[in-house]
Amino acid sequence: MHPPLIGISCGTSRHDEHAKTEQDRLNMAYSNAIQEAGGLPIILPNVGDRLDTAALLDRLDGLLLSGGYDVCPAVFGEETLNESVEVDEARDATELPLIREAVHRQTPILAICRGIQSLNVALGGTLYQDLPVQAPSGIPHRQNAPRHAATHSIAIESGSRLAEAVGDTQMEVNSFHHQALRDVADGLKVVAKAPDGTIEAVEAPAHRFLVAVQFHPEEMTGSSEKARKLFRAFVEAAQTEA
Ligand code: MN
Repeated sequence: MHPPLIGISCGTSRHDEHAKTEQDRLNMAYSNAIQEAGGLPIILPNVGDRLDTAALLDRLDGLLLSGGYDVCPAVFGEETLNESVEVDEARDATELPLIREAVHRQTPILAICRGIQSLNVALGGTLYQDLPVQAPSGIPHRQNAPRHAATHSIAIESGSRLAEAVGDTQMEVNSFHHQALRDVADGLKVVAKAPDGTIEAVEAPAHRFLVAVQFHPEEMTGSSEKARKLFRAFVEAAQTEA
């Protein structure tokens, strides 16, 4: 049996003043986590609205939406709140149509950090543009600790796909976000929250496999069995015939 082909969305060099050319970019942790879980990772370039999303998704068994810069607030009908909001328009142009088509055809999806946000916005939801300003709390969602280090807990809804995947209703997670879901799009259900109420995971109960998390499990596969289990559940869903 061939390993399932998992397309991974990526960012750009948009905010790197030292980049001499326009580049697609992705932290290696995503591809490594897919590889370790038994999938065949492939990075999806930002070619904007020239991308034939249907032709691409015909060939993919699963879609991993990776982290990165912020979705442009104009996409959910808002002015940009402050200068902490750093957008990546080329990425929005590629990713948002791809997400809508993937959800429509029930391609298995795992969404991470920006991924949960772009998923929610693509389906009609909104975001807190800057948590420290719009929803301040005692929990630092943008941690200074190392990338693999868990710094806050999440409570996971019993019976959810996420709880099933990680085998528990509680998990210690890392946190590298200054935005979060605000109004949740129709069809998505909140299945995990941080102690301050911040949405940390959603999923689509009607979908084959659509799990979206605000934390970074790809950075925790060396230290967290639950993170490894989440990737294995996703790759297994992608392996299964529709
Ligand atoms: Mn967090």
